[in-house]
Amino acid sequence: MQLSREDEEFRDRLRRWLAGSLTGRFAALRGAGGPGREHEAHEERLAWNRHLAAAGWTCLGWPAEHGGRGATLAQQVIFHEEYARSGAPTRVGYLGEELLGPTLIAFGTPEQQRRFLPAIRAVDELWCQGYSEPGAGSDLAAVATTAALDGDEWVITGQKIWTSLAHVADWCFLLARTQAGSRRREGLSYLLVPMHQSGITVRPIRQLTGTSEFNEVFFDGARTRRDLVVGAAGDGWRVAMGTLSFERGVATLGQQIGFERELGRLVEAARRTGAAADPVLRDKLARAWIGLAAMRAHALDTLAAGPGAASTAPSVLKVLWSRWHQELGELAMEVLGAPSMVARGAPYDLDDWQRLFLFSRADTIYGGSDEIQRNIIAGRALGLPRQDRS
Ligand SMILES: Cc1cc2nc3c(=O)[nH]c(=O)nc-3n(C[C@H](O)[C@H](O)[C@H](O)COP(=O)(O)OP(=O)(O)OC[C@H]3O[C@@H](n4cnc5c(N)ncnc54)[C@H](O)[C@@H]3O)c2cc1C
Repeated sequence: MQLSREDEEFRDRLRRWLAGSLTGRFAALRGAGGPGREHEAHEERLAWNRHLAAAGWTCLGWPAEHGGRGATLAQQVIFHEEYARSGAPTRVGYLGEELLGPTLIAFGTPEQQRRFLPAIRAVDELWCQGYSEPGAGSDLAAVATTAALDGDEWVITGQKIWTSLAHVADWCFLLARTQAGSRRREGLSYLLVPMHQSGITVRPIRQLTGTSEFNEVFFDGARTRRDLVVGAAGDGWRVAMGTLSFERGVATLGQQIGFERELGRLVEAARRTGAAADPVLRDKLARAWIGLAAMRAHALDTLAAGPGAASTAPSVLKVLWSRWHQELGELAMEVLGAPSMVARGAPYDLDDWQRLFLFSRADTIYGGSDEIQRNIIAGRALGLPRQDRS
């Protein structure tokens, strides 16, 4: 990606700001949060995220009229790279900033935009995503949660599952069936629902890591205002797909900087433990490095192509990074040897490598499983016939 002088100045300004800000009470937050570590220092990370917002470092890519900075693609990439490089903690507001915000900008009414975008930008309200249900994951069109109008309010009944960060969210954007008797993609609506109400119960799910990043969410007559439907009632599928198209995007390059750091730390560990002398492990470490280089080239190529990129590009990238990261976790266990099989303390005190190994099992599931991504590639790149799900 070609960088201009302004881009380089932008990078310098950001670098200086991050170095100057990750000090004092925020210094201890370096590296906090992230996959398998979402429970860490939530309040402190929220304060950090608001500090970031106050300095204008949230929602960079949003258009200026919606409170963003209208930053160029190159600057957004720089932001995510420098942010990851600085070791700044995982942002607590990313679901609002990266998924719902762009959705509201694309599909929301001016009133919805005015009501919700400033609070997302300032990290005053946190969001969660209520798509998956016990019977509707990969097959999202099987959503069975219902919403029916009662005067000026929707009344929602059903269950969502695997809802990341629902336990700290103020609002949920969810997909519900609003047309009784409708099937599959028809009759669904995209609703904005306040989480703090008696009709909603959030039950954390304990994960392999021993912590709970996601939850079951039960809706028993939960309510939201009639006008808090994004797009038209019944047109929720189109809006929900719009949200998915915003998932990841430029943040991918920041994620890769994080991967690079993990690989660097693993190489250091291999030197320390003597694993670096093992020809098989050396080979695997070199393969990991090559895989990362290929991923980065693919991501940069895709971003540079902009709207002209192949429609399968996000699926290719998802399959590349999810497998790569899982293999890194497996390799870490090999490099660290037998001690990696035991928790370092009672009752279940895992180190960073064990957490990475265990949490990365989820990488090939969330955001569309690898099988689903390969189905997309099979259909769009290879022209194979669609699967019949009727
Ligand atoms: C860490 C994590 C966080 C998540 N956060 C959220 C969240 O915030 N909000 C939310 O709504 N959801 C969230 N999810 C849910 C996630 O989107 C689903 O787990 C995912 O879509 C898969 O659905 P499922 O779990 O029902 O599995 P299923 O769809 O039942 O799939 C089971 C297995 O069958 C395979 N399979 C399914 N259909 C096909 C097919 N047609 N062809 C070939 N193979 C197939 C799948 O690949 C998988 O291996 C999260 C999941 C994880 C792991």
